[in-house]
Amino acid sequence: KQENTTTIQLLHSALNQFPEKEAVYDGTRRLSYRELEEESNLIAAELNKMGVKRGDHIAVCLPNWYEFVVILFAIAKIGAVIVPFNTRYHESEIEYILNHAKVKVAFFTDEVDGNKLWDSFNKVYQQHNYLKHLITVRANTRLSIAYEEVVKHSEYSEFEKVEVSPDDVAIIMYTSGTTGNPKGAMLTHRNVAFTGSVSAEVLKCTSADVFLIQVPMFHIFGMVPGVLAAIAVGAKLVLTQEFKAENALKMVEQEKITVHHAVPTMFILELNHPNLEKYDLTSLRTGIVAAAPVPSEIIRKIREKMHCEVLSSYGMTEASPCLTFCTFEDDDLTRAETVGRAMPGVEVKIINPENGEEAGTGEVGEIVARGPGIMKGYYEMSEKTREVLSEDGWYRTGDLGTMDDKGNLQIVGRKNDLIIRGGFNIYPREIEEHFYKLDEVQEVAIIGLPDTVLGEVACAAVTLKKGAVLTEAKLKSYIKDKVADFKVPDIVTIVEELPMTASGKISKVQLQNKLKEKMAHRLR
Ligand code: ATP
Ligand code: MG
Repeated sequence: KQENTTTIQLLHSALNQFPEKEAVYDGTRRLSYRELEEESNLIAAELNKMGVKRGDHIAVCLPNWYEFVVILFAIAKIGAVIVPFNTRYHESEIEYILNHAKVKVAFFTDEVDGNKLWDSFNKVYQQHNYLKHLITVRANTRLSIAYEEVVKHSEYSEFEKVEVSPDDVAIIMYTSGTTGNPKGAMLTHRNVAFTGSVSAEVLKCTSADVFLIQVPMFHIFGMVPGVLAAIAVGAKLVLTQEFKAENALKMVEQEKITVHHAVPTMFILELNHPNLEKYDLTSLRTGIVAAAPVPSEIIRKIREKMHCEVLSSYGMTEASPCLTFCTFEDDDLTRAETVGRAMPGVEVKIINPENGEEAGTGEVGEIVARGPGIMKGYYEMSEKTREVLSEDGWYRTGDLGTMDDKGNLQIVGRKNDLIIRGGFNIYPREIEEHFYKLDEVQEVAIIGLPDTVLGEVACAAVTLKKGAVLTEAKLKSYIKDKVADFKVPDIVTIVEELPMTASGKISKVQLQNKLKEKMAHRLR
């Protein structure tokens, strides 16, 4: 049944069952499902008046504000396509995506955390014809149409009804750009409605749940297993616009959060917060931890200190995003060490990247997947699309993994991150896991650096928890005891902070560039 749904049908199903129930709270306003429906009709009508047609592309560059959810459904209702923008994008990135996706209308606010979005959007608007309208949200710069004015003055909520099909593109979601330029994954209504509702099912969600969404909605994790999963069951969404560990804890207590989604870094910061014990976190039931490697220690600590049974999941933008899940029935070891099995309706296998043959149990290979959540393709990148999508629907993830005899998947790392030191393979993830067991360590990244003799050597960049004292020599002797000598990083360096991508992942590309310079004197 879920395979034939659209995002609008998810909303309408919740609306019919619980019209007066709270749907969204973002710290400023609470909207019921009825209000969400009505306000999105007003915005849909306005877009209609502007001449937006089925299939047109509409940018949204906003923090997790309630308006984002309203706009998401307004765009869907007229059959247009939402193109979410990271609020940390710089001018050149905004210009790149606006141009690449030929965006017709853009919703944005004037500034987020000092990033002057208004200037960037306005510049493209002045220079290019395809961008026809700008709509600001909560902005002081009033030179364009304001969301607030539309909602306040428009009594007209009629719009041209279009028959939206599950195979229509709903979202063009640009990837995080961890490995290069972001690519625009075209996700259909079927793709996202499927993954949204099945992830709610795996977490055993009902309308009684309260979701905390602090992962940005412009990222697939916040949008689908976050917002759409909650709407699919008629639950309540609590949005936070920027991540602050203490604010998250406070929200859990205040709004009685039951479902807490986060990337590993967010959980790490919450667990390490000195006021963790001060808050009542007993409402917490579950949540998803994903999007980057999850140190197994973290899963145990979340249970111990937050009394929350988080489930790890694995996926990517191209898969809308979930492919695998752990379940509540899994034993502790499986939950801590693997990302679980293919979720219902999805197939996952490991292949030998050289010849495409299926790898044996426990053998490292490339993870490939097929199912209703897999994208239609990359927008205007047909060659890239052909590289990753086969004709019979298999998607090549570019990640390496192993599978045990029960189908549990273990992520080894990205194909690109593999370090080959003098012919020996080093999987960064394995070494990182060991460092995370040290109490003093906050975060760690193992990367390869060029070496004229060995080809590549491994380098560990480590950040320490506030106040912790540890030397580079101690870190090195610790790891020497744990792994084979060729895997011991040649360089161990303690750094103030690790560079992050706009979606909050450690950027190994940036780290490599930085350390190549900083470590030049130690490289051959
Ligand atoms: P780009 O494709 O632009 O380089 P990206 O791959 O980081 O960026 P996303 O789609 O946000 O963009 O991230 C998906 C990737 O994140 C996966 O391919 C995988 O490498 C990693 N990932 C996701 N979940 C997990 C997990 N549970 N454990 C380990 N890695 C994960
Ligand atoms: Mg990727």
